[in-house]
Amino acid sequence: MADFGFSVGTVLENGLGRTGVIHTPHGDIQTPAFVAVGTKATVKAVLPEAVAELGAQAVLANAYHLFLQPGSDIVDAAGGLGAFMNWPGPTFTDSGGFQVMSLGVGFKKVLAMDAAGLADDDVIAPGKSRLAHVDDDGVTFTSHLNGDRHRFTPEFSMRIQHELGADIMFAFDECTTLMNTRNYQESSLDRTQAWAVRCLREHARLTTERASKPYQALFGVVQGAQYEDLRRKAARDLAVLEVDGASFDGFGIGGALEKENLGTIVGWVCSELPADKPRHLLGISEPDDFFAAIEAGADTFDCVMPSRVARNAAIYTADGRYNVNTAANRRDFGPLEEGCDCYTCLNYSKAYLHHLFKAKEMLASTLATIHNERFTVRLVDSIRLSIEQGQFAEYRTAYLTRFYHRTESQVGS
Ligand SMILES: [Zn+2]
Repeated sequence: MADFGFSVGTVLENGLGRTGVIHTPHGDIQTPAFVAVGTKATVKAVLPEAVAELGAQAVLANAYHLFLQPGSDIVDAAGGLGAFMNWPGPTFTDSGGFQVMSLGVGFKKVLAMDAAGLADDDVIAPGKSRLAHVDDDGVTFTSHLNGDRHRFTPEFSMRIQHELGADIMFAFDECTTLMNTRNYQESSLDRTQAWAVRCLREHARLTTERASKPYQALFGVVQGAQYEDLRRKAARDLAVLEVDGASFDGFGIGGALEKENLGTIVGWVCSELPADKPRHLLGISEPDDFFAAIEAGADTFDCVMPSRVARNAAIYTADGRYNVNTAANRRDFGPLEEGCDCYTCLNYSKAYLHHLFKAKEMLASTLATIHNERFTVRLVDSIRLSIEQGQFAEYRTAYLTRFYHRTESQVGS
């Protein structure tokens, strides 16, 4: 499609990690890039002007949440997500597939990132307490807002996402956990593949039906948990899929990933995907994860963590994370992070933030979020620069040694 495209810039020696530019109807995204999360069409506590000023190039909202409230028809009538929330740049919507896990099998449980060896489809959340039930045709949700029941199918997710109008959408998939058995992962993957076909068909139909609107790109989502054969097969199958003349414009890498295997799994997937299409990794924000995923070929990222922990006074710096709420910061009139160029660090002190958090003032969340989002955006931007300059490996060693207070040999390469 003329309005959407991806061009590759500098490629790392391993042939996977790269810089690039994603072209969308609402502007370009220089990759690798961190996408700010605005689940309910707002980056919590921060004005869109400040989100742009801190360097975020795009915002990702959630189709499931916006469907429940205010309703995708209202966002459509407003002119789409960007117009509704006064964000003129590129936008993404997540399909709602993640809620299949977070409200279904993973409901009230941590996402079990460290549950290796505990595989059992039933330990996760007992059937009755789940808010989502999956079958081959779709998912039945119970609204966490008012208990209403809703039915999500691939076609329905596509309709909602077309109404929301984001530049980049994701196919409706089932996101499993590491605790599901291998058998379950296999049948889930078949289901996700069948749903991908239905998403493309409905996407092609809606693109024609809504031809007066800006083109919306659709990314297929690669699942397969920690299994190499499943991940590779899923990536290959989605890469060649074409339905009614439509194919995926890019790809998402989904599912729970164990931290120690993150780079390996992303590498399996990216080595199967076509190099000329962008790849989004859902839900990471730790510095070592960025380096691992970017080296393995991921282009864009989103995560709620930088803003979520900011609202609890946790501050990211190049020397690690600290809590500005602790007594040591009460009389510290220096910035949250020495050398940071964000609005908060240029104008306010640790002592002021400490006071705002203690006094439970709303501005505390705003100022801390601006810093943490800027920190994360700047980290990913600096990794992009290191690739362009042929300094990726050296930069990673130096950065992670400092951030995690490790010796260089512990960081490795
Ligand atoms: Zn700052």
